Amino acid sequence: MNEKENRMPALAPCPDYTPETVRRALEAAIEASGGLSWVKPGMRVGIKLNLCAAKKPEAAATTHPVLASELTRLLRERGAEVVLGDSPGGPFVAPLMHRLYETTGMELCREAGGVLNEDFGYSEVEFPEGKSIRRFACVDWLRSCDAVINFCKLKSHGMMGMTAAVKNLYGVIPGTHKSEYHYRHEDPMRFADMLIDLNEYVRPQLHLCDAVEIMEGNGPTMGTPRHLGLVLACRDPYRLDRLCAALLSLKEREIPYLEAAKRRGLLAAEEPEIGALAAPYALKDFQRSGATASWFARTEEDRGLRKLLKQGMYLLFRSRPAVGRDCTGCGRCARDCPASAITVVIGRARIRRNACIRCFCCQEFCPTGAMRVQRSLAARLTGR
Ligand code: SF4
Ligand code: SF4
Repeated sequence: MNEKENRMPALAPCPDYTPETVRRALEAAIEASGGLSWVKPGMRVGIKLNLCAAKKPEAAATTHPVLASELTRLLRERGAEVVLGDSPGGPFVAPLMHRLYETTGMELCREAGGVLNEDFGYSEVEFPEGKSIRRFACVDWLRSCDAVINFCKLKSHGMMGMTAAVKNLYGVIPGTHKSEYHYRHEDPMRFADMLIDLNEYVRPQLHLCDAVEIMEGNGPTMGTPRHLGLVLACRDPYRLDRLCAALLSLKEREIPYLEAAKRRGLLAAEEPEIGALAAPYALKDFQRSGATASWFARTEEDRGLRKLLKQGMYLLFRSRPAVGRDCTGCGRCARDCPASAITVVIGRARIRRNACIRCFCCQEFCPTGAMRVQRSLAARLTGR
């Protein structure tokens, strides 16, 4: 198999989360994307899950525990040590992570011979090749592994349009530090470049995606589960996410990090074979979380009038967070807002629009789903 074929994405039908079905699907998808011959006895393999919130598996917000445990079994059968974890927004500390492991069902991975991460330290790392970040805080547990498997969940996302493989690596930045990186990368294309830097730094050996029950609408934590019935695998995060975009019938220009990957020469302009792979399973009516307006974002090459026009269109089309009537005034959004743009007044969150950087952390972590992404009038009128 040549390098190009080896880095092509693969998918396998997986109608439900029963262990036998999951095992078959995982084996088929992994085999079609190059197999696990790189896993050697004694190797320490880290599985970077998506554990964005303490939600039950049926909420479809997190990587499903049966998928994680069956992957653990496959790796253990090859003699590897397996450690699983994530670092969601908020403090990266034992009590919160233990609750997360329990609620998301990840205890199942212990029965399969895996270890749930207990190292909540981080270090400043250098990445001189980075375009957007060259020095950043990185969780220690992943750095201590010989190899990393990125096991993401396919969901809608307020800022990036969707979250799958590329976005999942934002979890290498420890919890509370994420706010700072949001604040420093307000422009979606700059944020996208940072995500790509993280992927290029970690370079997982394999990317897997739980696309059995995906999330649409108010994702990535409070959306609606939807059945897609697939497990995806690829050695290349950008191609895996290109396949995901095709499965959701999203335009690639609506996903900033796919545009950024193309600009950096990490993703070909087009790969019709990936569209053909997705076509039999593609959802035609996937509900997005918000319009990202990435196609209006500036590039370094933009100058003069072109730069001004693109910025104007971006401001016109970008989405904003909006507080719904079901706000309980709990204050979680105010605590997590990197721009300190939220206050709670008489039991209800209020947003200072001119301070908001549109990172949608508030929407992601609102425990009631009251904070939503609101598309602009221009976006709604033009169907963007
Ligand atoms: S997190 Fe949600 S419920 Fe809590 S104050 Fe903010 S908008 Fe309201
Ligand atoms: S109000 Fe919400 S979207 Fe705006 S900066 Fe704060 S967390 Fe981000």
